[in-house]
Amino acid sequence: MKYLGAHVSAAGGVENAPVNAHRIGAKAFALFTKNQKKWFENPLTVDNITLFKKRCLEYGYSAEYILPHDSYLINPGSPEADNIRISRNSLINEIQRCEALGLKYLNFHPGAHKKLVSEDECLQICAETINICHQKTEDLVLVIENTAGQGTSVGYRFEHLRRIIDLVENKERVGVCLDTCHAFAAGYDLRTRADCEKTFSEFAEIIGFKKLCGMHLNDSLHELGSRKDRHANLGDGLIGIECFRYIMQDERFDNIPLILETRDSDKWAEEIALLYEMSKER
Ligand SMILES: [Zn+2]
Ligand SMILES: [Zn+2]
Repeated sequence: MKYLGAHVSAAGGVENAPVNAHRIGAKAFALFTKNQKKWFENPLTVDNITLFKKRCLEYGYSAEYILPHDSYLINPGSPEADNIRISRNSLINEIQRCEALGLKYLNFHPGAHKKLVSEDECLQICAETINICHQKTEDLVLVIENTAGQGTSVGYRFEHLRRIIDLVENKERVGVCLDTCHAFAAGYDLRTRADCEKTFSEFAEIIGFKKLCGMHLNDSLHELGSRKDRHANLGDGLIGIECFRYIMQDERFDNIPLILETRDSDKWAEEIALLYEMSKER
């Protein structure tokens, strides 16, 4: 079964996210558990937590289909002493928030080397961050997202994600999230069925679908290999709709959160309905 959703707003409190997801016909959702532009925020209250759990239960969202995203400030692969310290503390804090909400996953980007260290050193720092986070928290699974490779970001090759996973001690607590826009911008073609076959068999070989905890379904405003991260609504970008039909009809993408982060949120309900229609065509 396919579990579609979007990265919905948690404005006014995390407990509003499941309501916003339900409103657009989602069976999965993503959210920020705090202001994504801040390093730290006041702890969640008992009311926030109780209402969030109650509403998730009420609308049928179990933790496997909720994919929270961390703050954009955090650089888990940072080569700078002050920056890595605050990044790690902030990430631990985010994991604890998720654990308090009864969540299973936290999705994050592996980071940027800022031209201060090599890409591989940056990947090693990121893996160390994951190991530290695992030690300081309970059982949450950290989900590494592939990137577009914009600026000095790492994580734009499947091999990068593999390298991080190889260096993580507790492999049961690490997974990946694939963003279609990021993959395309990084040079993985997804325009035709044949392109999808090729890209996803490369993914299967290097990382393996067992590690796939979620997907971000986004079309791309920029061309193949542009290394520019700009999302478009499905079919409005340069990937085109076939890629999403392919995903909806392939059982390797069953039973994981499939999350829209497309530009125009007014179209989410329509996009979710369209994708569910496509899933019935197989
Ligand atoms: Zn994404
Ligand atoms: Zn993006």
